Amino acid sequence: MRAMTLGIYIQVPFCQTRCTYCNFHTGVVSRDRHLPYAEAICREIEDYESLQDRVESAAPVLQMGHSAAPISLTVDTVYFGGGTPSLLDATLLGKILDTLGHNFSSESMEVTLEADPETITPEKARAWRDAGFNRISLGAQSFNDTELQAAGRMHRRSDIFSGNRILRDTGFRNIGLDLIAGLPYQTRETWEESVRHILQIRPEHLSIYMLEIDEGSRLGAESLAGGKRYSATEIPADDSIADFYDSACARLSAAGYEHYEISNWAVPGMRSRHNSKYWQRKPYLGFGAGAHSFDGEKRWSNVHDSARYASCIEHGTSPREQIETLTPAQALEEELFLGLRQLDGVDLERIEREYHVSLRDRIAPLAEQGFLQLNGARLRLAPNRLSISNDVFVELLG
Ligand code: SF4
Repeated sequence: MRAMTLGIYIQVPFCQTRCTYCNFHTGVVSRDRHLPYAEAICREIEDYESLQDRVESAAPVLQMGHSAAPISLTVDTVYFGGGTPSLLDATLLGKILDTLGHNFSSESMEVTLEADPETITPEKARAWRDAGFNRISLGAQSFNDTELQAAGRMHRRSDIFSGNRILRDTGFRNIGLDLIAGLPYQTRETWEESVRHILQIRPEHLSIYMLEIDEGSRLGAESLAGGKRYSATEIPADDSIADFYDSACARLSAAGYEHYEISNWAVPGMRSRHNSKYWQRKPYLGFGAGAHSFDGEKRWSNVHDSARYASCIEHGTSPREQIETLTPAQALEEELFLGLRQLDGVDLERIEREYHVSLRDRIAPLAEQGFLQLNGARLRLAPNRLSISNDVFVELLG
């Protein structure tokens, strides 16, 4: 029997308000919906194997628990994301973790909870710790109150400092913070100030995302339509956003952070083990509305609507949709697209061997232009081209 580790993702698609830039499937719902939703997740976890059987005509690739399994799986990461999972009562979060514990074998787990700074109280932080969380990802986004207010965030700069302090006092030794480059009203000065505050707080982990302008968010749609609502006219220019990113790269590196993925930095030894599974195409199972899963060969996701999801679970029907077995060409594209997001790059020889392809002709012109670096078998994005990685991927993947 082969042994393999597995990540678990729990999706909580509820928020207090809707941020202007958000393009996720989340909603603002009454607290009455929290308990039935958490119970639905527990039931989906308990019914995992029978749901899997109904989706598959052949034997499932991943089998859990105590059944005779072709692969022995041990859960080593759990990630509660959203949405704002910290809105759920800690007893509900603990109930989901307990259900996981009863249905999966686990070992030295990294257990992460995404939290909004203003939702943190000493009582909650203690309850999270006691429930088994050992890593908190704080959605800071900015340390500038004008930017936070324009983006529709509920917290202010002082909440980030106090939330962080409460978590530290409670004993959390693995805290991640998120920032967004490109928020309306952001300037070089306010950006540098946000990075300065990050270095003051010194989280173990940091993610920096560049603002996405697309139809999926109110801000993106307004900007594309040339309108003024949501401060759309105050979004910094693309060149400025790229400069913000490059400047953060330099300052974080000088401060001892390892830049290990396009959008992610960590103090040595504190990379996100869960998110690394996505880039390394390791298996993970998602539970909850809209949660995605990957078993090494297939990808599938649950229905997005949380009420429909809960109804499926209640009636014993599968919430899964969009089940796709990847073709070798799709898998190869993922190896490159996801793998090259990591600054360590990919093992080109392994990829060429496994996929029976030669990629040298495609890589050579991009390496000559300085977009890619090939050292031995290791293929990487050039560190000074990370802010335009999407353009490089388009060229490489054609
Ligand atoms: S808190 Fe996160 S998920 Fe919720 S609306 Fe804001 S950006 Fe979207």
